[in-house]
Amino acid sequence: MFELWRRPLIFLLMLLSLTLLVWAAANSLVAAIIFGVLLFIRWAFHVRHLVVLNYWLQDPEKRELPDGSGPWEEVYARIYKMVREHRKERTKRAAALHDMEQATSALPEGVVSLDKADHIEWCNLLAERHLGLDGVRDVGQQITYLARQPEFVEYLAAKKFADPLILRGPRQDDLVLSCKLVSYGGSKKLLITRDITSFERVETMRRDFVANVSHELRTPLTVVNGFVETLHDMPNLENDMARRALSLMSEQTQRMESLVGDLLTLSKLEDKLNVLQEEVLDVPTLLPRCYQDGLSLSGGQHEIKLDVLSDCKLLGCAEELRSAFSNLVSNAIRYTPPGGEIVLTWQLLENGQPVFSVKDAGIGIAPQHLSRLTERFYRVDSSRSRATGGTGLGLAIVKHIANRHQARLGISSEEGKGSTFSIEFPVSRRR
Ligand code: ADP
Repeated sequence: MFELWRRPLIFLLMLLSLTLLVWAAANSLVAAIIFGVLLFIRWAFHVRHLVVLNYWLQDPEKRELPDGSGPWEEVYARIYKMVREHRKERTKRAAALHDMEQATSALPEGVVSLDKADHIEWCNLLAERHLGLDGVRDVGQQITYLARQPEFVEYLAAKKFADPLILRGPRQDDLVLSCKLVSYGGSKKLLITRDITSFERVETMRRDFVANVSHELRTPLTVVNGFVETLHDMPNLENDMARRALSLMSEQTQRMESLVGDLLTLSKLEDKLNVLQEEVLDVPTLLPRCYQDGLSLSGGQHEIKLDVLSDCKLLGCAEELRSAFSNLVSNAIRYTPPGGEIVLTWQLLENGQPVFSVKDAGIGIAPQHLSRLTERFYRVDSSRSRATGGTGLGLAIVKHIANRHQARLGISSEEGKGSTFSIEFPVSRRR
């Protein structure tokens, strides 16, 4: 900075000294002319540098900045240094961006970045393939203009992105996509798509296989069970050993029958074609039937109470809800020692959600099992479950039914003290 002041000052001093010398040696007119000419030369020098700088600034990418002279040498050098650093930084950023682009292109998932109004900002190659987008042509387009499926439009509008959306045939073929939206940077979103076609195919095959096997087993089992019971009840069967064998066979075939029955129920609940048959249910009149079922299952061994604290009706499927409620009641009875208290409650929560709950004073469940209880065949104590006629599928069925009603299955339990199982329905199902 000091250099920029020093040079013009020296020039001015030299010019003044020279003018004074000429004045002293000749006269004031000659001195004034020499002063004027030298000042003009200096002015022209600065103007030339300014013109050069202006010319270069018009297209700094393509034009070279020449070396300046005098004080301009330092100014040009500084500008040039800045430009060089800027170019270096830009190259570095471009390389980093290129790396990022390559990394996102290599992702096994499709990624679309959306702005706050859901316009496409950028997408990778897989997203182009999944949703039939064009990464160049479609930038700036509204995503719902290109991915028009009503369920996708609803998913985007609902802004509830916790669960992924399964999109079938987004390009009018047999492609199945799992779509997930993730918010970032305040109001922007990332749409992540995953091809789950083969997973769905395997899952459908598995479901069909279980359903078919269960179906095929049903008839032979009924026949065997029928014969076993007939033989068992024959009055002239005196052999004790045969009687014991037959009662064991009857017990086991009945167990297999309930297993097959539960497997078929699960298959039916999982069947995408099986849409929920909804009607307005008067839950307070449905519950006494579950209560009666509970009483007969308990055989008077438990103290069972029914608390209907709300007369709220519910939009749902009667058959499914009755099965879910009865499953919870039957579990409470099977896992509560004789004499224990069981309370069935129908009430509204403070936020207006209708809830059915079953509270027992039974054996309870240790915390490490709670998250796995709704898995198929997961049992805390297999021998107890079998001894009480359990199939290990009851809570899986309840969870499915709750999901079909957009309800949540809540479980709280303390080992040795008892458990509470509740089905919390969304307010939108209240009638
Ligand atoms: P199961 O036919 O074995 O009862 P479920 O799916 O209904 O199968 O339940 C899974 C497991 O959860 C049971 O094996 C049992 O260990 C536990 N469980 C369910 N309900 C209760 C309850 N009310 N009290 C204690 N444990 C329970």
